[in-house]
Amino acid sequence: MRCLMNNLDPEVAERPDDLVVYGGRGKAARSWAAFDVIARELRALESDQTLLIQSGKPVGVFRTHPMAPRVLLANSLLVPDWATWDEFWRLESLGLTAYGQMTAGSWIYIGSQGILQGTFQTFAAVADAHFGGTLRGRLVLTAGLGGMGGAQPLAVTMNGGVALCIEVDPSRVERRLTEGYLDERADSLDDGLRRCASAVAEGRALSVAVVANAADAFPELRRRGAPVDVVTDQTSAHDPLHGYVPSGLDLDAARQLRADSPHLYVERARASMAAHCGAMVGFLRAGAQVFDYGNNLRGEALAGGLVAAFAYPGFVPAYLRPLFCEGKGPFRWIALSGDPADIAATDAVVRQAFPDDDLLQRWLELASARVRFQGLPARICWLGLGERDVAAQRFNDLVRRGDLRAPVVIGRDHLDSGSVASPFRETEAMADGSDAIADWPILNALLNTSSGASWVAVHHGGGVGMGKSIHAGAQLVIDGTDDAAHRAELMLWNDPATGVMRHADAGYDRARQTAAELGVHIPMDDPSA
Ligand code: NAD
Repeated sequence: MRCLMNNLDPEVAERPDDLVVYGGRGKAARSWAAFDVIARELRALESDQTLLIQSGKPVGVFRTHPMAPRVLLANSLLVPDWATWDEFWRLESLGLTAYGQMTAGSWIYIGSQGILQGTFQTFAAVADAHFGGTLRGRLVLTAGLGGMGGAQPLAVTMNGGVALCIEVDPSRVERRLTEGYLDERADSLDDGLRRCASAVAEGRALSVAVVANAADAFPELRRRGAPVDVVTDQTSAHDPLHGYVPSGLDLDAARQLRADSPHLYVERARASMAAHCGAMVGFLRAGAQVFDYGNNLRGEALAGGLVAAFAYPGFVPAYLRPLFCEGKGPFRWIALSGDPADIAATDAVVRQAFPDDDLLQRWLELASARVRFQGLPARICWLGLGERDVAAQRFNDLVRRGDLRAPVVIGRDHLDSGSVASPFRETEAMADGSDAIADWPILNALLNTSSGASWVAVHHGGGVGMGKSIHAGAQLVIDGTDDAAHRAELMLWNDPATGVMRHADAGYDRARQTAAELGVHIPMDDPSA
């Protein structure tokens, strides 16, 4: 219940009054009435009962057993032939469903920090692959400063680089300035370019936002031959009706057109995305490092007529898959006490537990200095198989000894090694062509449910939109008991192990080695099979 409420804390959610947490219209509950009933039921729930949530609405409480999850959630799922935005919006307007995005509908969103570490990690991988390990003296062009995209400027400057961020909504720019994720706002594209050019020349880290539509600004920057080294984008392109603002409309005009003529809106949004993505392809051809940042801009641009939309890769095959092969992904935890000192104590034990992981050490140092908590204090870092359970046991010891003021919740993004099928994102270009096989996230959810997780969610359409992804989330309350230690031993091993299994099955050597070294039993790899 603390996590559900934290998702909707005004410091955390993008539009809490509408129950929108992040990512276009990712919601924590179907309606405020549903929210109130969920809270009431959670307060009354016994430790051998399970509450079922159907797309943000509480639909039943059943007797189960203490090791079973207290809450099971299914969000935005549609039968495959019906899995289109049009059908989803029709059902949503009838009040029958809600969009859960990833961590919105599974109650483990922690504000922009949640994505900051992954974004930091991605830009660090870009720096390693192309620029000798740093973005110092490099210009990164991106767009979208929303719940997730707002992490980009800080992630670039944490890697020493310069970020030029295009955002159509001035209130989003103000929010990132206030939160300390963004350094400066420029008055125009010219002003933005000037500020960035001096920072690049001086090797100074800087992030600058310009209020403009990316469908205009990206092509304009390309025409001018702006000296950009890296290009990506995190507008809410996955949702062409509620996420992306078409060129030529201010925010009020966009709202009006959306209400009056949704089909025309989608057509204009897709045409704008074709121009936006086309400029990114132009930058690629001019020698920049260009990658899709998991928002399906390429898919929508293709629908808008840009044949070359998929000329550049997604960020997972380009930078993150080797980590997924080791079961590495976005491990996060929340201090239910609300006391930042609890996060400081957990940061310290993670640093002690993994002294040889240089990137993790650098991240935790930067995060404790530069990340302002939103809502309940929380932390995120990428840990893999054999690391997550170790961290959890140490947290449990802290709670048991009274070194923390209250329990912590451990969770993760659905963007993880074993919990997602998303052919334009996490499972793009799998070695064996299994991109669209969605058995894996379902097996992940079933196994977490069988391994003592406190709550488990299965969703459709997160990140890239309807029809494009199936994914699962799982959380565990760490309360200092033997019971929590037992659950952590099972769940926080099994969850990342499904990622190693999935990638080993797809034929990745690194995953096979990890499985062999750490003892993940993969029956078909058994010589006696
Ligand atoms: P959000 O809806 O909170 O923010 C999107 C931002 O884009 C808004 O501020 C909006 O004003 C801006 N925008 C819309 N159209 C624009 C245009 N034409 N030009 C300039 N700005 C425009 O969404 P979010 O939570 O920041 O997520 C952004 C996207 O990233 C989504 O598609 C989401 O699914 C995806 N995503 C990526 C990851 C990842 O790991 N890379 C994770 C989660 C979500």
